Amino acid sequence: MPDAPLVIIGTGLAGYNLAREFRKHDSETPLLLITADDGRSYSKPMLSTGFAMNKDADALGMLSAGQMAIQLNAEIRTHTRVTRLDPDNRRVWIGNEPVPYRDLVLAWGAQTIQVPIAGDAQDAIFPINDLLDYGRFREAARGKQRVLIVGAGLIGCEFANDLLHGGYEVELVAPCEQIMPSLLPVDVAAAVQRGLESLGARFHLGPVLERLDRSGDALEAQLSDGQRLSCDLVVSAVGLRPRTELAAAAGLEVNRGITVDRMLQTSTNHVYALGDCAEVGGLNLLYVMPLMSGVRALAQTLSGKPTSVAYGPMPITVKTPVCPLVVSPPAAGSDGHWSVEGEGSDLKALFRGIDGNLLGYALTGAAVRERLDLNKQLPPVLAEVPQLLSLKSSE
Ligand SMILES: Cc1cc2nc3c(=O)[nH]c(=O)nc-3n(C[C@H](O)[C@H](O)[C@H](O)COP(=O)(O)OP(=O)(O)OC[C@H]3O[C@@H](n4cnc5c(N)ncnc54)[C@H](O)[C@@H]3O)c2cc1C
Repeated sequence: MPDAPLVIIGTGLAGYNLAREFRKHDSETPLLLITADDGRSYSKPMLSTGFAMNKDADALGMLSAGQMAIQLNAEIRTHTRVTRLDPDNRRVWIGNEPVPYRDLVLAWGAQTIQVPIAGDAQDAIFPINDLLDYGRFREAARGKQRVLIVGAGLIGCEFANDLLHGGYEVELVAPCEQIMPSLLPVDVAAAVQRGLESLGARFHLGPVLERLDRSGDALEAQLSDGQRLSCDLVVSAVGLRPRTELAAAAGLEVNRGITVDRMLQTSTNHVYALGDCAEVGGLNLLYVMPLMSGVRALAQTLSGKPTSVAYGPMPITVKTPVCPLVVSPPAAGSDGHWSVEGEGSDLKALFRGIDGNLLGYALTGAAVRERLDLNKQLPPVLAEVPQLLSLKSSE
């Protein structure tokens, strides 16, 4: 397929950054990006800061698809959904239209998990996972006052802080005993929760939202513990699931994400996966830092210089400015324990393995200043592959 383009599916941070990085190495190969949305470039992490910054979806959007096409010397097909992969014939299908590729990169992200909620007000439940979702929510929130957030993970808490800054009343409901249970030790979670409560947030931890019904101009939410809450809008922040269905249907290996090797190649030649949809070395990390490491490696591989991806420490800055938080969670299943120092909202929690080595941390308030020192002590999230290490040491 010498004349077929490099095809990238998705124009999120993974797709656009890969295209940009690829163009630094190769200005000639035809490049085609296909996206189900309008192709505007934007930084997804900014979606949970828009109310505090008073920015609507248009203000958060950066360049249009047309401007990106010029910048990247690429064709960009917007509002176009790829419906089937056909790796045996090196093409993808958009409905009945086949599109050939030289190499294919799946950068189609993850979709919001929808939990079943009964009642007649489904249209008042807003997932926010892209700029278009955000635009719809901003529109609906105009003139409204009370927002119920379903989910108390990282995204739910970030939206809570942002909406509180934007002048909204916020309640959160989640079936867990503490906020951000997969990321934080209990004392740190409590400090962040207190911070949000000091702005007026009200938490309902334990029950789930069972029903949402219209009640006059407002909504009535019914929780599984019998509580009834009145609100105007609901934000759904229960989590994301990598898009794997089309890959699995085409015979590609999938696990939680689309399984790729350290070159980000799927189980099929000439097909790669990057970003929220990819599972690299058993890790499906839905953050920007790992995605950007993948971008740099894959751009080189696609330009003829096979390059493995490796991740150093990957701390996450959580956007809850009322209680600044940086966390580097220990790898799943790590043997060890948390110890917590400090008081009030200035906490330093360290997770040490049984040999005493630092494996993770969570810092709040003034303690976040220690993150750079601590990063130096952390093990890499995904170590360099041994061949590359031995190649370097023989140089
Ligand atoms: C509110 C919020 C705040 C966040 N804050 C942070 C943060 O502070 N720090 C951090 O590290 N991470 C943060 N994240 C996570 C981070 O933003 C994501 O990991 C990253 O943006 C994912 O980029 P992506 O390109 O893989 O996926 P996406 O941005 O989801 O892009 C997927 C693309 O694929 C397209 N697509 C999907 N299916 C198809 C199809 N069949 N055919 C054609 N196109 C298709 C979509 O239209 C879209 O263009 C946040 C996420 C959210 C939701």
